[in-house]
Amino acid sequence: MFVGVGAARVRDLFAQARANTPCIIFIDELDALGRARGISGLSGGHDEKEQTLNQLLSELDGFDPTIGVVLLAATNRPEVLDPALLRAGRFDRQVSVDRPDKNGRVAILNVHLGKIKLAESVDPAQIAALTPGFAGADLANLVNEAAMLATRRHAPSVSLDDFTAAVERVIAGPEKRKRLLNPREREIVAYHEMGHAIVAMALPDTDPIKKVSIIPRGMGALGYTMQMPIEDRYLMTRTELLNRITVLLGGRAAEMAVFGEATTGAADDLVQRARDTAWSRKSGRLPSPPNVHAISICRG
Ligand code: ZN
Repeated sequence: MFVGVGAARVRDLFAQARANTPCIIFIDELDALGRARGISGLSGGHDEKEQTLNQLLSELDGFDPTIGVVLLAATNRPEVLDPALLRAGRFDRQVSVDRPDKNGRVAILNVHLGKIKLAESVDPAQIAALTPGFAGADLANLVNEAAMLATRRHAPSVSLDDFTAAVERVIAGPEKRKRLLNPREREIVAYHEMGHAIVAMALPDTDPIKKVSIIPRGMGALGYTMQMPIEDRYLMTRTELLNRITVLLGGRAAEMAVFGEATTGAADDLVQRARDTAWSRKSGRLPSPPNVHAISICRG
């Protein structure tokens, strides 16, 4: 909050904290003010930010650990923080909060489910099983979406079906039932999606197919094929990556086999997904965490 307001606010914050011990100072999005100095170059307000950071550093140095002020900060981008912030005596202990595993998702869901009326038959573990790869914010969003779906059908409580539908909404965007596809295009999309599904089912070491749809959704997806991992996993083998690329190519292959030519419907499969997966294999880098054994989806 105090970026741009300056060093005086930082001084004031620490003065207030010392006057109100015991207390906790929590700085959210620490990277907004703690970004490494001297990199941003042309950006306006650069000096102002630098002054604010310098003030924070000097407050940290004058910090007496015995007075009962605990200092906490959070960031999604620890790699851009100024190294001076992380030296001994400053923010020198780090706790990394990863994407939650299944038990973690149950615990997070329990927090958010308290705000809605859940159908009695629904166990939070069932919802956690539907959401591999979801972070805390995704789960909060999911509960909200499920509650809205239940409200829309005038239900007294939120059912597991609402959550299943909400998972699809969160991952693939809202359904666009009103967008009319002509029969020829719908047929092409249907064959395309079946291509993904058949290849996925034919290959070992692929996640089971959860759903195939030719109802348009979100931005530009005319249909989609959704694969859902059966357990939380953190590594992918070379074979699994190759199989994933093969599944992505299955849609286009089906168009070629049935119609003799491909359409632009495979653009997202090829440009975004297959290329990125191949690139991560070549460079030895795994796809970024959301892609590793989270729900994977072939759009279009
Ligand atoms: Zn596709």
